Amino acid sequence: MTRLKWFLATGALMASACCIASTSAKAPPGPVALTVQLSRPSQQLFDVHEVMPVRPGPLTLYYPKWIPGDHAPDGPIDQMMGLEITAGGKRIAWHRDDVDMFTFHLTVPQGVDRIDVRFQFPASDRITPHLMGLAWNVAALYYAGYPTKAQIFQPTLVIPAGWRYASALVTAGHSGGTITFKPVPFNTLVDSPVIAGEYFREIDVTPAGSPVHRYLDLVGDGVAAVNIPDARIADYRRLVEQEQALFHSHHYDDYHFLLTLSDYTSKGGLEHHQSSDDRARSGAKMFADADHFMLDASLLPHEYTHSWNGKFMRPAQLWQPDFERAEQGWGLWVYEGLTVYLGDMLTVRSGLWSPDTWRQVVAYRAAALAHQTGSAWRPLIDTTVGAQLVYGSTERWSNWRRQTDFYREGQLLWLAVDMKIRTLSQDRRSIEDFAQKFFGRDDGSFVTRTYTFDDVVNALNAVQPYDWAGLLHDWLNGVGRQVPLLSGIEASGWRLVYSDQPNRYQNALENVGQGELEGKGVNEMYSVGMFLGNGGEVVDVLWHGPAFEAGLAPGMKLISVNGRQYGTRVLREEIIQAQKSGKPLLIKAQIDGAAKVHTVHYDGGLKYPHLVRAPGETDYLEKILAPKPPGDGR
Ligand SMILES: [Zn+2]
Repeated sequence: MTRLKWFLATGALMASACCIASTSAKAPPGPVALTVQLSRPSQQLFDVHEVMPVRPGPLTLYYPKWIPGDHAPDGPIDQMMGLEITAGGKRIAWHRDDVDMFTFHLTVPQGVDRIDVRFQFPASDRITPHLMGLAWNVAALYYAGYPTKAQIFQPTLVIPAGWRYASALVTAGHSGGTITFKPVPFNTLVDSPVIAGEYFREIDVTPAGSPVHRYLDLVGDGVAAVNIPDARIADYRRLVEQEQALFHSHHYDDYHFLLTLSDYTSKGGLEHHQSSDDRARSGAKMFADADHFMLDASLLPHEYTHSWNGKFMRPAQLWQPDFERAEQGWGLWVYEGLTVYLGDMLTVRSGLWSPDTWRQVVAYRAAALAHQTGSAWRPLIDTTVGAQLVYGSTERWSNWRRQTDFYREGQLLWLAVDMKIRTLSQDRRSIEDFAQKFFGRDDGSFVTRTYTFDDVVNALNAVQPYDWAGLLHDWLNGVGRQVPLLSGIEASGWRLVYSDQPNRYQNALENVGQGELEGKGVNEMYSVGMFLGNGGEVVDVLWHGPAFEAGLAPGMKLISVNGRQYGTRVLREEIIQAQKSGKPLLIKAQIDGAAKVHTVHYDGGLKYPHLVRAPGETDYLEKILAPKPPGDGR
């Protein structure tokens, strides 16, 4: 019950995210008994039943709308079905709010002190015949008018008997397929997903001597998917050691990496305080070969880093007292950007990536940003403020519109900050000093603290005096060439160059990639200025690049290049040929049933990004990416 005590007793810590609604003074009724049942996995349905204590009179219930970590009001309310509210077997009428689709109103009759709420939620993206993942926010209504940390839920999960499971929730009882967890506040419940399945492995990756346990929990659709090599297990144990050596703290009781390795579920990760909901982009093949693993290796380090940066320390306004109030994304360049920087660094320090892989990845991203024409009109800060727009926007024209650049550009920004600290302090200090000071307080606590822009500036100044406000302001609000995108790379003793030699990360993306940001496809943005799907669909063009000027646009499909039927190999052969001949490329494309030949003037040859050493300069990347001696082993 430690976690209950923390959440209920120390809400005052969240001072800068104050102003909880006036109703917070009144205790909510409770606890709510919530049962989620997965009766027949093949039907991919969760059955929800809540017994909610109530008082007679008007009652408003919410379905979670703003899901922490999603940075968007994307609670899947459109999927919910079968909502029925009863008291003593009698139906109570409900009606949806006319304005807010996540809000339900009803009147509790006199004499009624509890209601039954039932509905179904189809989760085809999280359930297969062999496994499931449950994020509790899809399967519960909660009381309006009270902070979620004051609403106690008593969760029960019913899964097929014989399936094994993992969660940061503490089990109170387990019989057959019925698991009863200890009661938790609603915000902790939403922060504590469960994975379960027929093919399951739990591996303790706690470093020797530590009383705080970290578990790697794997679930897949077959025994092969969860077959993780011993060398990888050792890498994940080193990840825990290196994370500890970096932050000198932890913000969980125990920690669970909940890793789903399925070809049928959704992909990606969602961070939590005491666990991460990790869904391998490579599905069942994550551990199968080097290319797949390269694309997935940074997932767990990223989500684990969020336990410190994002969950424990959170930008003010990204924390809200309930899931109804709008989050504000201004701080995502810290929340996500610094997590990419530190998470990828730890991916190398743990052995999951080599330093060369890190350089391939960063070269690829730096090149994409150096060609991100949309930065001419849209400053980085607008991608954070408008995060809820950019997460969902189409890839078409994304070069000119911009994407969720606070991730990859955030990585370059924090590399620049790290290098500035190192240079100004004559190598005596680094971003690690900031990481320890900023994220290392309240060791053992997972009560969120919030911070402002000024708090970040002050914390940086405490490590190394400098005009951090000026540097950050210029970077975040600057447009086009005002932003010194490559300054961190260059200060680290490396340069971004382009050659006709393929980039290994790009190759892996083209061969097996599945991610949405850096997805499968053919990237010729730095040559003719096009990003293509594998079937020749134009996904994006470089704004005012060679292909754009020739009239090509997203949505078209390439038919031929210089009279030869389109294929990736053909396009690249013709780009090489055009460099030799100096003649334009004749690219035939069709859209909406009409075909046309476009004359593309480009003779610069193939261009792939790489980082190369600047002769005579100190190699700081070597220092940044080198593992630290294991810390105090907590
Ligand atoms: Zn993240």
